Amino acid sequence: MILASNNAHKMEEIRAILADLGIDLVSQREAGCDFEVDETGTTFEENAYLKAAAVTAATGESAIADDSGLEVDALGGEPGVHSARYTGNHEDSDEDRNNLVLKKLGDLPLEKRTARFVSAICCTFPNGDVLRARGTIEGRILFAPRGENGFGYDPLFLPDGYDKTTAELSPEEKNAISHRGNALRIFKEELRNYYAHK
Ligand code: IMP
Repeated sequence: MILASNNAHKMEEIRAILADLGIDLVSQREAGCDFEVDETGTTFEENAYLKAAAVTAATGESAIADDSGLEVDALGGEPGVHSARYTGNHEDSDEDRNNLVLKKLGDLPLEKRTARFVSAICCTFPNGDVLRARGTIEGRILFAPRGENGFGYDPLFLPDGYDKTTAELSPEEKNAISHRGNALRIFKEELRNYYAHK
């Protein structure tokens, strides 16, 4: 099965969470798909489908895609589906995007800085079948970044009930509670059912 992504951090997390499936997972690049899919959808679900379906169309193989992002309530759900390119410039870094979120939130108090990470998983099969799963994790946006692990907005995100950001958690701790971990655990059940009834 092909992981329809070119994001090395995401791939590492997805591989670790799906490790017990007993399925050979190869990256999009390893499968010879050197393209970036235009994420023209308005929802995480639409974009996950676009990415998985493009890889299945190009290879004739099953593909799994994750489309994910950060929703900040005080910013009306932004950056949302624009999380990867929130500053509008593809060359900008995670740090630039984090700074933009911090600037927009200003000195809004912590109790109003509620946010969540969302992950939409989509798996497309060559026969046209599609499996989907969604996972979230609720938390708050801190006033300054903390931690070196993870990627993206992790240094700003304090999960509810934790005193460490997702960038301060170990990879195992993050996967155990994260949006991607939650979505992929649901997906694994769906996949087991799918193959059991084939
Ligand atoms: P995608 O590759 O289009 O799905 O964009 C996902 C973007 O959302 C990433 O580039 C990050 O900015 C953000 N994001 C998604 N998942 C995470 C996460 O687990 N931690 C931090 N940021 C994330």
